[in-house]
Amino acid sequence: MKQARRKVLKETREQGDTVKTGQKIEFSNGEFKVPAHPIIPYIEGDGIGPDIWRAAVRVIDQAVELCWHDSRRIVWKEVLAGEKAYTQNKNWLPQETLNAFREYRIGIKGPLTTPVGEGIRSLNVAIRQALDLYACVRPVRYFPGVPSPVREPHKVDMIVFRENTEDIYAGFELEKGKEQTRHLLDHLFEAYGWRIREDSGIGIKPISETGSRRLIRAAINYALRYRRRNVTIVHKGNIQKYTEGAFRKWGYQLAKEEYAEQTILWEDVMDTPPKDKILIKDTIADIFFQQALTRPEEFDVIATTNLNGDYISDALAAQVGGVGMAPGANINYQSGYAVFEATHGTAPKYAGLDKVNPTSFILSGAMMLEFMGWSKAAKLIETGLEKTILSKKVTYDLARLMPGAEEVTCSQFGACICDNMK
Ligand code: NAD
Repeated sequence: MKQARRKVLKETREQGDTVKTGQKIEFSNGEFKVPAHPIIPYIEGDGIGPDIWRAAVRVIDQAVELCWHDSRRIVWKEVLAGEKAYTQNKNWLPQETLNAFREYRIGIKGPLTTPVGEGIRSLNVAIRQALDLYACVRPVRYFPGVPSPVREPHKVDMIVFRENTEDIYAGFELEKGKEQTRHLLDHLFEAYGWRIREDSGIGIKPISETGSRRLIRAAINYALRYRRRNVTIVHKGNIQKYTEGAFRKWGYQLAKEEYAEQTILWEDVMDTPPKDKILIKDTIADIFFQQALTRPEEFDVIATTNLNGDYISDALAAQVGGVGMAPGANINYQSGYAVFEATHGTAPKYAGLDKVNPTSFILSGAMMLEFMGWSKAAKLIETGLEKTILSKKVTYDLARLMPGAEEVTCSQFGACICDNMK
């Protein structure tokens, strides 16, 4: 009897310890296995990062609690990067931080200052490259009531898959006048007869078949999983034939080879595409900006190269209320790593004022929950946010454009969302 009681006590204690410490998310056979109390590393970020993180973590925890009480809970683990890491360890991006993202597989981060002239070009790019997070995923949808510069923002409901590791972001750049630059210019003239002005800086734009196919595959898989109607490959292939043009070609080839049953190519559509197949089409980047404004309802999933994707995701976010409203994630679907992030910067002049809009961070949290398979909590956050915006209690950036709105602080906005989730 005593022994049995001791056993129960021991088990309860062990259970308690596990809950306190949490468990690792595992990844095998292309699937994440999320335990009930996953450990999730987070970087609160620089500038406004701590303000928006405080608001966001409260909303995320509350949503999980409302859905599952204590049977599911995130065990947060702080990791350092940016100014906080530099102040404490004289290192902008400690190896332990990268190790933690690798070990725990799913993480979240606030905005980070890009140190000027410190060797690292951008901490965000460094994190993406270290974990080979090849897909930058940015959903863009409208929340009723948000001030927008366009007449029909509700028609925007797209998800951008931006290639995250190649293109001019690969970092192969040489400065005007340097010896290496002169050497390269000489070589280009001798080997190819390319005459480039001597006072030029040079950048190399690699676009590989491997990089393009895995990104476009991720976009098509998303379209299949979430029953979207089409995938549009956005490129500048009319000018850059062997990089952007090849991206388009490899995209169509991939659809034909791997998704023949589930997709239909634009060139094979006679009249209207069949409802049971995902339409794979393409458009040239410059005209895409016009079409995204004039007929946004025709676009669903966007697959594009790195620089195009950078411009496109901010331009689309502007239609639904700006980058303060847009969440994002950087994902490697093959090796099983994902880092979710607020998409705007550190807005240093508002740091510590508890003033800015935490929506981008909050929605990144919702996106993370959805990714973990905790969709119920993700939906709850979106509902809470919708109700809060409709109640017109919003942060300064929205309040100044919303007649009759009451301006609330960053933390109050988070608290309103929590109330509206109940
Ligand atoms: P920024 O996004 O920080 O700010 C530009 C302006 O946008 C701000 O002054 C503010 O008016 C507004 N804004 C931004 N976020 C807002 C929010 N949540 N709520 C309300 N208004 C908001 O861009 P920046 O000034 O070009 O960059 C500042 C720093 O951030 C730089 O060091 C840059 O490298 C870094 N940055 C980081 C990331 C990232 O970590 N993902 C992204 C972009 C810029």
